[in-house]
Amino acid sequence: MDLQKLVDDVLKDVEVYRGHGEVASYIPALKAVDPRKLGIAVAAEDGSVYCAGDAEEPFSIQSISKVFMLNLALDHVGATLWNHVGREPSGSPFNSIVQLEAEKGKPRNPLINAGAIVVCDNVMNHGTADEAVSEILDFMRERAGDASVAIDANVAQSENQAGFLNRSLAYFVSAFGNLRNPVEDVLSIYFRQCAIAMSCRQLARAALYLAFDGNDPVTRDAVTISSRARRINALMLTCGHYDNSGDFAYRIGLPGKSGVGGGILTVVPGFGTVVVWSPGLNSAGTSLAGAAALEKMVERTGWSVFV
Ligand code: GLU
Repeated sequence: MDLQKLVDDVLKDVEVYRGHGEVASYIPALKAVDPRKLGIAVAAEDGSVYCAGDAEEPFSIQSISKVFMLNLALDHVGATLWNHVGREPSGSPFNSIVQLEAEKGKPRNPLINAGAIVVCDNVMNHGTADEAVSEILDFMRERAGDASVAIDANVAQSENQAGFLNRSLAYFVSAFGNLRNPVEDVLSIYFRQCAIAMSCRQLARAALYLAFDGNDPVTRDAVTISSRARRINALMLTCGHYDNSGDFAYRIGLPGKSGVGGGILTVVPGFGTVVVWSPGLNSAGTSLAGAAALEKMVERTGWSVFV
């Protein structure tokens, strides 16, 4: 398959959606992003990354970071993580607080905000917030093979200042005894992990191990055990796109994770990864042109976990 032609063709397919959707505005620093940006990157087993459009430009990865933080938490605490957070789709918006009361402070899954905050608490464990942030940043740099990956301090600060809802979620969870560390420390990890900036190219490369049972196919690093990589993919398929996770699984048929920065990471098991970025979001918070591009890509390639 000519992967360069594939990404070029898919970019043309979705040109009509460029600029559609709403850029996330509840985090002021994200509002400033040009809604007409559109990037696509496909990473293959040999580490080659095929790019089209704005695929080299760093964007705020936001909730896509939750996938990698989950990996670190499972490495730290293993299956005891599931005493603190569930594994079911929420069917609710990413920042919803309603289920938390009925379910006694145990978030539905690690890929919604409340669950990701619990995950941060488990990565922090008995260390400091700064150590946990260094750990995720080092992980992303190593996996991307690029030491320039960084946190956008402006976005992190903006998230902190506008973080009333995330603060509410975190204090609510803590009131049920489900956070071990001081709430503001845990939140400071969460805000900074969401503010990591990466390009489609860097992110596609970084996630490659998830397509190969936890092993980086280029460096041969055993990044995580195969059962863990498979389970992270399962959670992405069922819970990766807020309350449109079912729709995404139906349309795209691959594990994925959306972020409100307009990025979507998708894993094609045994083949590689696809990352798209376009800041205009649908009403559930998933990139509108990005999801359309992934739909065109699976139409053209036949990629699916259901073959
Ligand atoms: N930092 C964002 C928030 O907490 C992440 C949301 C997302 O990308 O889904 O609201």
